[in-house]
Order: sequence, then structure tokens, then C-alpha cells
Amino acid sequence: MKPRDTRVKPGSRVSLADWHTDGDAFVGKDKAASMARLDDDRVRLEELQELLYAEGKHRLLVVLQAMDTAGKDSTIRHVFRGVDPLGVRVANFGVPSTHELRHDYLWRVHPHVPASGEIAIFNRSHYEDVLVPRVNGAIGHAECERRYRQINDFERMLSETGTTIRKFYLHISKDEQKKRLEARRDTPKKRWKFQPGDLAVRAQWDDYRAAYDALLSATSTRHAPWHVVPADDKLARNLIVSALLIEALEGLDMRYPEPVAGVAGTPII
Ligand code: ATP
Ligand code: MG
Repeated sequence: MKPRDTRVKPGSRVSLADWHTDGDAFVGKDKAASMARLDDDRVRLEELQELLYAEGKHRLLVVLQAMDTAGKDSTIRHVFRGVDPLGVRVANFGVPSTHELRHDYLWRVHPHVPASGEIAIFNRSHYEDVLVPRVNGAIGHAECERRYRQINDFERMLSETGTTIRKFYLHISKDEQKKRLEARRDTPKKRWKFQPGDLAVRAQWDDYRAAYDALLSATSTRHAPWHVVPADDKLARNLIVSALLIEALEGLDMRYPEPVAGVAGTPII
């Protein structure tokens, strides 16, 4: 299978149970070769980011969503390791503050979208607003449907004004999450990440899965597609995300700007 096979076809009905969490279908058995490919991808992504910045025309928005421990942070770290830190901004979205809750749910998100020449990564996003309140019962079915429509409209506006959007759902199995939570609990250097609240969310695993099925079905669009990325295997996950970002940036057909007239041959005094 190819990285692009992870794309959710707009209008299709998603059941995550049908999607791979293991990366076997995507990466070969040769781990060294896969690691070498990831290194090559890092170099390519760095080149493309520099071109994006130099040309200053396009914007790239990367949205990461996942169940706990699926590796949002680690994906950012590994995929963007080679990229100039000046060219990437990460926005983390946690539990909304009282101040944020006094506004519409997109209000806190909009200031963080990328400017021309920039890459912005949303580590969680406006999609939390069709997950947490839906599972907790704070919003009903009708409000959730309205939000899908609003989100699609918002993303269409971003796309029509020059933003390329790629959304990744990092897909781990319940067994793999158990292993990772146990590792957090038992490894002194990881223990700080362990939050008892994570267990409460794990107990609602089926409800979150249903909420993800619904949102992936409703909000994968031509201008802002979702990809369901197998995330039990970290290397496969990183390779798939990098390949898709490279493909998205290469599709922009970017060019370095022409130098200002008379630059060639200008004597440097
Ligand atoms: P890790 O995976 O390393 O634990 P994290 O992404 O869970 O990192 P945290 O700061 O631990 O980061 O958690 C953020 C929390 O904020 C999550 O539980 C998430 O569901 C919650 N959250 C984010 N946005 C919203 C929202 N709009 N409404 C309610 N809860 C939200
Ligand atoms: Mg957490």
C-alpha cells in the first residue's frame, strides 16, 4: 500500500475498525532501509520548507488528532527534525480556558493558522470540539452536525485563500495504548506524562471511536482531506506522514522568486 491509500475519500463512511493500526502493509521488513528513507525525507522536507518560505505564496496547515499515547508529539519531533525551526510553528490546543469558552470554538484557533510561507502544525485542534463535548454529552447530535458544517466552511475558506490543509488521525489499537500507558506508568523518565485522566478517557474508548468515525466521515473534503495513519508502528507512522507532506508541498509547484533586477553581476563593495 502507498501512503496516499490512507486518505479518507470525501463522502465515504469511515469505520476505524476497518483501518490498519499496524504499518506492515506500508513499510518493508528492512528497518535500516526505512530509516534511511526517513532521513532522505527529512532532507527533502527541509528543502521544500525553504522554498515555501522563499516563494512566500502558499501556506501549509497540518492537523494532528489522536487518542492519547498515539504519538502526536513524537510525530512532530521526528517528521520535522530536519526543518529549520524558524519555518514551523506548533500550536497546542488543551482544555479551553474560561476566557476561550466565552467565544465561539473557532475563535482560539484562527490566530494560529499559517501565514504565507509558513507551516503551522495543530497539535490537537478545533476537532476536539466535536469530540470531547460530544462524548460528554455537552452537545447533541444536531449541534455536532452543525459544527461539522462550520468546520468544513472554515477550512474551505482557508483553502480558497491559499492554505493547503492535511489532517492526520494517528490510529493506534487499544492494546498498543495499554502497552504505552503501562510504559508511562513504569518508566521513571516517562512517568511525568502519566495522567489519571487518561484512564477515564480510555474507559470511554468506544465512545471516542464512534465520535472519530463520525467526524472523519463528515469532514474529509477535497480541500482538507483526512488521512488515517497506522500508528502502532512509529516508523511507519513517521514515514507515511512525511511522504504525504512532501507530496502536498511538491504539488504546489513552487519556484524560487526571480532576483530583483540587476542583482546578477552586482559588484560587492
Ligand atoms: P499527551 O498525549 O502527551 O498526553 P495531550 O495532547 O493529551 O498530550 P494534554 O495537555 O495532556 O496534551 O491534554 C490536552 C487535553 O485537552 C486533552 O485531554 C484534550 O482532549 C483536551 N482538549 C483540547 N481541546 C479541547 C476542547 N476544545 N474541549 C475539551 N477538551 C479539550
Ligand atoms: Mg494527555
